[in-house]
Amino acid sequence: MSFDPALIKNANFIDGTWISANSGETLGVTNPATWEPIGEVPNCGRDETKKAISAAHKALKPWKKLTAEARSEHMHKLCDAIMEQIADLAALLTTEMGKPLAEAKGEIALGVKYIRFYAEEGKRVYGDTIPSPWADRRILVTKEPVGVAGAITPWNFPNSMIARKLGAALAAGCTIVIKPSEFTPYSALAFGVMAEKAGLPGGVINILTGNAAEIGAEMCENPDLRKITFTGSTRVGKLLAAQAGQHMKKISMELGGNAPFIVFDDADLDKAVAGAIASKFRNSGQTCVCANRIYVQAGVYEAFAEKLKAAMDADLIPGNGLETGITQGPLINEAALEKVDSHVKDALEKGGSLKAGGSRVGSAGTFFAPTLIANATPDMRVAQEETFGPLAALFKFETEDEIVALANNTEYGLACYFYTSDLGRSFRMMEQLEYGLVGVNEGVITTEVAPFGGVKDSGIGNEGSKYGLDDYLNIKYSCIGGLGL
Ligand code: NAP
Repeated sequence: MSFDPALIKNANFIDGTWISANSGETLGVTNPATWEPIGEVPNCGRDETKKAISAAHKALKPWKKLTAEARSEHMHKLCDAIMEQIADLAALLTTEMGKPLAEAKGEIALGVKYIRFYAEEGKRVYGDTIPSPWADRRILVTKEPVGVAGAITPWNFPNSMIARKLGAALAAGCTIVIKPSEFTPYSALAFGVMAEKAGLPGGVINILTGNAAEIGAEMCENPDLRKITFTGSTRVGKLLAAQAGQHMKKISMELGGNAPFIVFDDADLDKAVAGAIASKFRNSGQTCVCANRIYVQAGVYEAFAEKLKAAMDADLIPGNGLETGITQGPLINEAALEKVDSHVKDALEKGGSLKAGGSRVGSAGTFFAPTLIANATPDMRVAQEETFGPLAALFKFETEDEIVALANNTEYGLACYFYTSDLGRSFRMMEQLEYGLVGVNEGVITTEVAPFGGVKDSGIGNEGSKYGLDDYLNIKYSCIGGLGL
C-alpha cells in the first residue's frame, strides 16, 4: 500500500468512537484502476443513523456555545492534521476513486482551504439592529446555527465535497452527520481519523456508510436533524428534496450539470483549447461543472478542432493515477464506462465523426480513451444528458442569438463557459446565460471564496464564500420591549 494503512478504517465514526453495523454486514470497496479490493466498510441503516443523529444532537449544545474563535481553533487543528498527512490522504483518494495523484492532492488542499476559510468566516456571522417603528422597543436580528446537518456526498470529489459542507456547518455552530458514496467511503472516514487526531469533541463530526435510501430517509424524518445538504445527481436530489419537504427541513442541493463551453470567432484559440482540456478532461470528465457541449463558431471551428485534438494527443495520458505522468484515471465503475460508451455510439450513429478515442482502454480497470467527436447535433444524447466521462463533442454555431438559445436549452443550470475578446459580448452573454456559474475566458473557476451553486434542475443554495454560510444559519428577530424608554 502506498499510504499509511491506519487510514483504512473499516468502521464508522459515531460519537467519537469507531463502530460496526448492527447487522455486522459490510460493503466491499474496489480500486477502479486495478479492480483489486481495498476493504469492507459497515453496511449501516436506520438504527445506526438514529444513533449518529442522536450523538450529533448531544454535541450540538456545547459546540454552538463555543465562541466562533474557539470553533475556528478546532477547525484549524483539523486542517493541520489533514495537511500533515496530505500525501497519504491523496494516495488513499486515488486508490479508491482513480483520479491522478496530483489532482487528488489538489482536491485535498482545496478542501482544507474551504475549512480554513469558514473557520475565519464564522467570526463574521453578523446580525443587525433595525430602526424600530415603536419608540419604546428595539429590534434585534441575530443568526443561529440551524442545528444538526445531514450531508450526503458523491464519489467524484470524495474529500472536497465533504470539506465544503463540514467547514460551513461547523463554523456556523452546527454538528454534522456525513454519508459518503459507497464507492469512496475511505476518504470520508479519514475525516474521522483526522478529527480524532485534532482532538475534536466527540459527536461534532459523525460519518456512516451503508444503505443510502435508509440513511437518507432517516435524515429527512428525524426531528433532531434540521438540515439536509446533498451533492449528487439531480434524480436523487429531487427525491431527497421531496422527502425533506415532508418534514420542512432546510435543504441545499448541489446537483448535475450539462455545461456549454462556447468559443466565439474572436476568441484566443490557444486559451480556449487549454480551457477546454481543463474543463472537459479534469477528473476524466467526471465533474459536475465539466464542459459537456463544446460549441464553436463556424469561422474557427476547423482550427479549434485541430488544436484541441493536438492538445488531447499531447496532454491526456490514461493509466493508474498513482503512476507518474498519468493525467487520465479510470472511470468510477463499469456503469460509468457504459454510459460514455453509449453516448459515443449514439453520436456516431447520428452522424458524428470520430477524431480521437472512442472506446475503452485495456481489459482491467475502467479506462475510456479521451474521445473527440466532431459534427455533433442537438438530437444526440451528449447534447441532452450529462456524459460524466472523457467525451468532447464539438457543435458548430453561427450567431450569438443562436448560441444563447442552444446553451440555455437544457433543464440544467450549473456551469457555463465562453471565450471571446469582445467586452460588450461578454456582458451580453453573462446576463443571458441561465447558469449559476459563468467562466469568461476561463475553464476552471472553483474557489472557496466564491459562491458555487446551480439554478433550474442543478440545485438550490450555494457552497463556498460568505453566501455558503447562510445555508447553515437561521435568522431570528427579537423585539425587545419593557425597556422603560
Ligand atoms: P448519486 O448517485 O446521486 O449519489 C450521491 C450520493 O447520494 C451518494 O452518497 C449516494 O449513495 C447517495 N444516494 C443514492 N441514492 C440515495 C437515496 N435514495 N437517498 C439518499 N441518498 C442516496 O450521484 P453520484 O453518482 O455519486 O455523483 C455524480 C453526480 O453528482 C453527478 O450528477 C454530478 O453532476 C453531481 N455533482 C454535483 C456537484 C455540484 O456541486 N453541483 C458536485 C459534484 C457532483 P451511494 O453511493 O451509497 O449509493
